[in-house]
Amino acid sequence: MKIIVIGAGIVGVAGAHALLDDGHAVEIIDREGPAAGTSQGNAGGIANTEITPLASPKILRRVPHFLLDPLGPLAIRPAYALKAAPWLLRFAASARPGPYKRNAEALFQLQARVADTWRAMAAKAGVERLVHRRGGLTVYDDAATFERHRPFFERQREIDGDLELVDGPAIRRLEPALSERFIAGLHHPNTAHVSDPRVMTVALFESAIARGATFRKAHVDAIEAGVRPSVRAGGEKHEADVILLAAGIWSKPLASALGDRVPLETERGYNISFPDLTGVIARMISFEGHGFVASPLDTGLRLGGAVELAGLAAAPNHARTRAFHEKARSFLAGVPPFESGKVWMGHRPSTPDSLPVIGRSRAHSGILYAFGHGHYGLTQSAATGELIAQLVASRPTAIDLTPFSAQRF
Ligand SMILES: Cc1cc2nc3c(=O)[nH]c(=O)nc-3n(C[C@H](O)[C@H](O)[C@H](O)COP(=O)(O)OP(=O)(O)OC[C@H]3O[C@@H](n4cnc5c(N)ncnc54)[C@H](O)[C@@H]3O)c2cc1C
Repeated sequence: MKIIVIGAGIVGVAGAHALLDDGHAVEIIDREGPAAGTSQGNAGGIANTEITPLASPKILRRVPHFLLDPLGPLAIRPAYALKAAPWLLRFAASARPGPYKRNAEALFQLQARVADTWRAMAAKAGVERLVHRRGGLTVYDDAATFERHRPFFERQREIDGDLELVDGPAIRRLEPALSERFIAGLHHPNTAHVSDPRVMTVALFESAIARGATFRKAHVDAIEAGVRPSVRAGGEKHEADVILLAAGIWSKPLASALGDRVPLETERGYNISFPDLTGVIARMISFEGHGFVASPLDTGLRLGGAVELAGLAAAPNHARTRAFHEKARSFLAGVPPFESGKVWMGHRPSTPDSLPVIGRSRAHSGILYAFGHGHYGLTQSAATGELIAQLVASRPTAIDLTPFSAQRF
């Protein structure tokens, strides 16, 4: 079949590989090129053990506290609050115990596919050298929170049986640069990170081209559901048997025009990278309750996190980056001053129930969606590709896709 993939971010290129595996003729269309969007600057974690939807009772309890701190892990710009309100109301509804439990189960099923599908994709695409299986560490500076999370660790163990609880001294044996304030943690020995998310996305794109995919640089203005689906790009119409929309946050207007009004919102995230600084930490570290992570990328140390609701157009506010950088300096020895870093802001394409959209459009069975991966697009890209290829081939899907349907909203 001829398949057009819209978007050369990590989700689009992973989809392209899965479709190439089945022998389809794949054309990737992007208005810029590979890794032009959020996939260029994320934290690089293949976070297979992250099984909690962001929309959770835990977050709901903490939102008032977060919002009182203008530079805390979560912020809503006052000028954007009204626009964000419908999404926030849905987010709050998804965070109630019943929906949360259902969403957590669906997320678990998807996350359980992450490690195997990434391994398979990396091997086929010849990019294994860019995947580092050095594990990950979640560290706690609050004993009560750690105790409260214990039942949840057991569920994570179903994804990675080697997961181990570690005390303060063990944490520092693993990561000597970590402050004594961290008294407990979770070691995820099989978690991986990529050499650099931009490098990885570009490498996967180039490998898709080497495997026979073609690339068209064009802005897609519309997707049309005729007898055969087509896209309008650069004043031209391009038909295909299947069209896969994987344009991250920018998928929203294209899906909406097809009748699927997915409440997609940008959760803006920030990071600061210190080029060429390696050796400070060996594995990805997540600082529980502080809303940021540290990643030992091959291209340098990266500190990334924070969530800000302010829409697509507002200028970045790197006071947020300064705030977590300041914290990181007290959490980790060897973090350089702010001025020597390179800052970045990106748009997490987020649904209010923290589940991506993977499935068919309502307009045409040959128009498919793969967007809305929020905090975990890199992580879930290969698993999403597998599911899309199964849908295209009308094979049974590896997991039930009902919770991921665009028509759930
Ligand atoms: C600070 C931060 C840290 C993160 N850390 C992690 C992490 O450690 N692990 C993880 O799994 N995820 C992480 N994420 C999330 C992850 O980056 C995203 O979920 C992921 O990059 C989304 O990928 P995508 O392919 O859907 O979208 P994008 O990467 O945004 O790609 C969309 C592409 O579509 C193209 N496009 C858009 N509109 C059109 C159009 N009309 N016509 C043609 N082309 C178009 C764009 O040019 C772009 O190339 C993080 C995000 C942030 C912001």
